[in-house]
Amino acid sequence: LTSSPKRSRLHVIHIAAEMAPVAKVGGLGDVVSGLSRALQKKGHLVEIVLPKYDCMQYDRIRDLRVLDMELESYFDGRLFRNKVWVGTVEGLPVYFIEPHHPSKFFWRGTVYGEHDDFRRFSYFSRAALELLLQAGKKPDIIHCHDWQTAFVAPLYWDLYAPKGLNSARICFTCHNFEYQGTAPASEMASCGLDVHHLNRPDRMQDNSAHDRVNPVKGAIVFSNIVTTVSPTYAQEVRTSEGGRGLHSTLNSHSKKFIGILNGIDTDAWDPATDVYLKSQFNANDLQGKAENKEALRKHLGLSYADTRRPLVGCIARLVPQKGIHLIRHAIYRTLELGGQFVLLGSSPVPHIQVEFEGIANHFKGDDHIRLILKYDESLSHSIYAASDMFLIPSMFEPCGLTQMIAMRYGSIPIARKTGGLNDSVFDVDDDTIPLQFRNGYTFLNPDEQGLNGALERAFNHYKTNKESWQKLVKKDMNIDFSWESSALQYEEIYEKSVARARATSLV
Ligand code: ADP
Repeated sequence: LTSSPKRSRLHVIHIAAEMAPVAKVGGLGDVVSGLSRALQKKGHLVEIVLPKYDCMQYDRIRDLRVLDMELESYFDGRLFRNKVWVGTVEGLPVYFIEPHHPSKFFWRGTVYGEHDDFRRFSYFSRAALELLLQAGKKPDIIHCHDWQTAFVAPLYWDLYAPKGLNSARICFTCHNFEYQGTAPASEMASCGLDVHHLNRPDRMQDNSAHDRVNPVKGAIVFSNIVTTVSPTYAQEVRTSEGGRGLHSTLNSHSKKFIGILNGIDTDAWDPATDVYLKSQFNANDLQGKAENKEALRKHLGLSYADTRRPLVGCIARLVPQKGIHLIRHAIYRTLELGGQFVLLGSSPVPHIQVEFEGIANHFKGDDHIRLILKYDESLSHSIYAASDMFLIPSMFEPCGLTQMIAMRYGSIPIARKTGGLNDSVFDVDDDTIPLQFRNGYTFLNPDEQGLNGALERAFNHYKTNKESWQKLVKKDMNIDFSWESSALQYEEIYEKSVARARATSLV
């Protein structure tokens, strides 16, 4: 007990609403599997607890079977039975909880967006902790994510630590502070949390509505470690402009709050082995990249006469966060500058989807512009591989994955300096940054002038200095964006927290 806890094997249990590839909606799913795999590789025991959705990719779960246990969990004043399944996803042990509740919480054909999401996920958070208690688990770290499993933190300290599930430190990661899951305070009682005890300004009460509770705030208050997905975003959310109402809470708890940049799955995103590509390629042999560019232009009906005409790619959910007014502007500006533009994106916001359909129609049959307004995994790989430049003009970006994927595929990012983009894209012309880190083009002001400046510098470089551009492409392809270094940082904060707890004999 007194020896250094460093390098000891940790037992980490993630409780989450998503995990790639079985139940993935966005970046959260990638983080849960990417981080877990990297920690497992380092020798730690990592397990995951998920809801058993009807809409999972069951073909990606190995050896799925029902556990022989009676799991009863509390909700709305009584106990409900749950079936517990276990299987292996990407080499990781995963428990799936199937509630026997008349509302069929996870039998809706969708992960999120139901009217009773607060009830669905507060139920799940409680059932997950009940599973750990009844299965006799003694984890060192319970890691919960986003508002859907934020309930785990107050539930753990108020109800489960007293019941004997008390070996763990709680880590909470917020992947996007835009989503906080607030609800009328009374709703919290369903999962057994004490409304009077928790609906207080220093606990779970929402900072702008006193009759509402905020699960993300609760997790910030009640967790031992709070993280978000990049160092710059961690600073931004501590300001009144960026904090979405939680900046004061984050500032009060700043000692336990840290931003750690996500990694990407470098096996899934590898141009040397990518089966979606016409030709595989690597940093030492870029011939394949040129072949992919030609193939994509042909596939989309774009002109392919001029191999040196720069191709700008953009892949994004078309929501205001992604800077859609700047994406729209960049399409026209690229055309004026003599480039080609390919946008792959779809919008959950009907009027935005309609607006982009209008632009797509306007350029129908055009030689240089193509908008593909749907979700298409295979096409996304082709665009990363084919494009020379990649546009990410986000208004805010907690981490962002597309800039890292683009670089791995030799597409030079043109990004706004915000959040994780500011931690991963460094301007080629910025003398304040050591030369070896410079890898793309950035701009600060979220307006057309700002974007034009970066886009024009990129075009100028591409057109006037082919050799130096190729060097930049190779350099970007060799940057290490794997989960290794992020996992190392998580390992360190887990270990520190566990060591602190042991030193003060809390566990
Ligand atoms: P966010 O999670 O905010 O959407 P990220 O940059 O973290 O943004 O992750 C976006 C991921 O989704 C990337 O892997 C990107 O390739 C993918 N993606 C986004 N839109 C599409 C689309 N229309 N078709 C295929 N993949 C997409």
